[in-house]
Amino acid sequence: MKISNYRIDLESVVDEVKKQGYNLIGVQIPEGLKIHGLRIIDFLHNSTGKDFVLNVDPCFGACDIPYNSLKEIGVDLIIHIGHLPISSVVKKTSLPILFIEAKADLKLEKTVEASIPFLVGSKVGVITTAQHIHVLEEIVEIIESNGLKVVIGEGDNRISQKGLILGCNFSAATSISDDVDCFLFVGSGDFHPLGLLFNTKKPVVAADPYTGRVRVDELLDLKDMILKQRYGAIAMCRHAKRFGILLGLKPGQQRFDLAVEIKKKLEEIGKEAYLLSMDEFSPSKLLGLEKIDCFVSTACPRIAIDDYLRYKIPMITPAELDILLGLRKWSDYVFDQITEF
Ligand code: SF4
Repeated sequence: MKISNYRIDLESVVDEVKKQGYNLIGVQIPEGLKIHGLRIIDFLHNSTGKDFVLNVDPCFGACDIPYNSLKEIGVDLIIHIGHLPISSVVKKTSLPILFIEAKADLKLEKTVEASIPFLVGSKVGVITTAQHIHVLEEIVEIIESNGLKVVIGEGDNRISQKGLILGCNFSAATSISDDVDCFLFVGSGDFHPLGLLFNTKKPVVAADPYTGRVRVDELLDLKDMILKQRYGAIAMCRHAKRFGILLGLKPGQQRFDLAVEIKKKLEEIGKEAYLLSMDEFSPSKLLGLEKIDCFVSTACPRIAIDDYLRYKIPMITPAELDILLGLRKWSDYVFDQITEF
């Protein structure tokens, strides 16, 4: 079915529901497609005669599947639209989860062609998001037809397909950064190409198939701006005595061992440190606690960076804490990642 700019294979959902005889099905869709949620539910219900529950909590990734609460209300299948599976999340649940891609239906030849003059050297690492991964081969053909060699990286266990990037995991790029001269990121937004710049230390070209824009210098300006912000956040924690270590409860964001390790590290140098857990992060949930000087987030790495201005108390990532404690050099600044081996 074509919904907005996306092709979503709802027909395969109908087949699976009929074949397996599921009765109550939970459906998760990304924020950007929520406006079409009722249409999707209507189609599925009318095609199968079964009941579908649309989970309207914000859903930003496959890390965020509320299988326990859906199971409790009797859901026997979860349909997760728009993200590719994260293996550790799938392993944790006893409920079947059907991952259905939302494939961007765009002509990207012109955008990829426009990126060619900006690519540095002869070997290009190509990386993209779940919405465009189905056209990865097409992207490779366009670049190679211009005489360049393309390398596609294999990610760690959190990454289900070659060449896929997540905001919390750049391993499909870092695994090949020594083998390429630059990276081409195909997708929208700033976070992924910035993560590539920080974590691979290679030149990055970002090609946005939605707008046709190709960016290089603008990314470098953004990188400087983020570095200034992050330097400020780390500096504000310099004299912190009491730390709150934030633990995410979403199934694919839980890093309890890391949080405990950080607590220990801080206590060893005479700091006070507390483990604080949350499902959905929000500044208001942290109000009412006794004064904390600095938060260290072990949940989704994007929270500390994207939501920087929402929190009155500085929030830093585990990698930034290492800079604060002198365990990592500022010149080795990287975005935090959730890795799985
Ligand atoms: S942890 Fe954050 S970046 Fe990673 S999949 Fe979840 S929402 Fe996306």
